[in-house]
Amino acid sequence: PADSGKLGFAIVGLGKFATQQIMPSFKDCKHARITALVSGSPDKAKQLAQEYGVAEKSIYSYDNFDSIKDNPEVDIVYIILPNSMHAEYTIRAAKAGKHVLCEKPMATSVEDCEKMIAACNKAGKKLMIAYRAHYEPFNLDAMDRIRKGELGKIKAITSDHGRPVKPTEDKADSWRVVKKMAGGGSLMDIGIYALNACRYLTGEEPVEVTAQEFSDKSDPRFKEVEDNIHFTLRFPSGVLASCTSSYSYSEVKRGRVFGDKAWLDLDPLSDYYEHNMKIGDDKGKEEPKLKEGNQFAAELDHMAECVRDNKTPKTPGEEGLKDVRYIMAIYEAAKKGKAVKV
Ligand code: NDP
Repeated sequence: PADSGKLGFAIVGLGKFATQQIMPSFKDCKHARITALVSGSPDKAKQLAQEYGVAEKSIYSYDNFDSIKDNPEVDIVYIILPNSMHAEYTIRAAKAGKHVLCEKPMATSVEDCEKMIAACNKAGKKLMIAYRAHYEPFNLDAMDRIRKGELGKIKAITSDHGRPVKPTEDKADSWRVVKKMAGGGSLMDIGIYALNACRYLTGEEPVEVTAQEFSDKSDPRFKEVEDNIHFTLRFPSGVLASCTSSYSYSEVKRGRVFGDKAWLDLDPLSDYYEHNMKIGDDKGKEEPKLKEGNQFAAELDHMAECVRDNKTPKTPGEEGLKDVRYIMAIYEAAKKGKAVKV
């Protein structure tokens, strides 16, 4: 059969992102297939199992999830649950002897990230965080151009990520405004794309962060989590990054890198299906023609290949931990009104 040789994935949490983006992307995968579903909604799970050709005996609930250890069809467990549940299900999956792919943000605390890494190490299993931009052609091309010196010496980066959060209209947004489940507001959810982009575009780790936050506390959406948060990152080479993140902008997801020879603009930088790149200098602008690719399928295939070939994923647990650490430092800097060394 066409699927033989592909690694089996269990999808944990059949929500908006899992059902609308991830599950449909398996058709573009060379090395990955869906072999199990884990859900608290039995009817939805049954229907999706039929649609995707998953055996009924391979549908699990959160209660009997641990028995997935006895299912040889499952190599990798993909956690697509609300942020606060990532740690528990990653640790349970590792204990069940499965490799783990986990959504961003990795967890809602540094301690949880460390426990997840320790659990996967102890079990001898791979842990990858689903940073899809690392598998997306425009972002990969941008990294390549920067590393080759096309922009000259990098001086600065700006990145803005925002969208209107709609907890009363969209079920997927309802837990996002609850601090206990989301861990934080726009920064945890989408500002993380700006933060992560500054790191993969420079190839450096920041040494200091500053931040300012403003949320309208009379807006019921922002009783517990932040809306607008602006932050800066200082990198060892002297690159200065300045980023904004918001739950009330009209949708934006862009980034721009400024070098001493040229600038490079990605707008959108972190969309699902549409990206645009522009490069410019004193003489003019060009728009390199790149082909869109299915970043979700590329990411799933990468995880499968890492497991099959015993390689460390490009975006391992340690990558997710770094961002959660920087996010906590950004929150601390905003709260104290002072720069925080990281
Ligand atoms: P949803 O709320 O749509 O999905 C979460 C699913 O988790 C639910 O549908 C439900 O599935 C399950 N679940 C179990 N317990 C709970 C609970 N107490 N409350 C709510 N849901 C619960 O959210 P998203 O799909 O938008 O987000 C899920 C994860 O994916 C998040 O970590 C998010 O950051 C990440 N994400 C990543 C994106 C990316 O581009 N990489 C984009 C969007 C989200 P069931 O009914 O099957 O049990």
